[in-house]
Amino acid sequence: MDNGFSCTLCGECCSGDMKVFVNPRDISLLCDYFSCPPEELYARGYLMRDSRNGTILPRIKFREFSGLKFCPFLENRLEDDGSLKGLCRLHPRFKPLICHLAPLSRTVDFSDNSEIYLFIPPHPACPGCGPVGPDREKLDYDRLSPELKERLAEEKEYFRTLWLALED
Ligand code: SF4
Ligand code: SF4
Repeated sequence: MDNGFSCTLCGECCSGDMKVFVNPRDISLLCDYFSCPPEELYARGYLMRDSRNGTILPRIKFREFSGLKFCPFLENRLEDDGSLKGLCRLHPRFKPLICHLAPLSRTVDFSDNSEIYLFIPPHPACPGCGPVGPDREKLDYDRLSPELKERLAEEKEYFRTLWLALED
């Protein structure tokens, strides 16, 4: 990409205290990947429910090992040069939308259904992010695939329904 972003596969944004919320399509893709019903994703400890903006939503349940927290779908690979790479085993087809979108991030104002896209480093220490240019967020959105744009529209409708229910 010539937008100043190039993931180094450091795995930082897939570990620690990151919270990765998932939408219904993401869950459906996880069910396809694991060939199981949604409840089993919770039973296997892949998903949990958590509060966000006054609503209880599903998110990926990070695991802990030796004091480290990490996404259960993160896989490490030791390269020939001795460096450790963090790979997502869901990449690319089954990856949650929010992970697919990074480093692009969307904010929706449901009062008028407007949305803005911002370039936000997926982790404060992300080594893949270069300097942010003035039109980068627009450039990035324009480059998204039709499938991702469809998933974004679908997710917006999902959150809008939740927002309307909260407003009632
Ligand atoms: S923190 Fe940045 S460079 Fe590291 S894996 Fe995430 S996106 Fe890639
Ligand atoms: S689903 Fe993949 S990209 Fe997203 S946090 Fe987990 S390992 Fe990282």
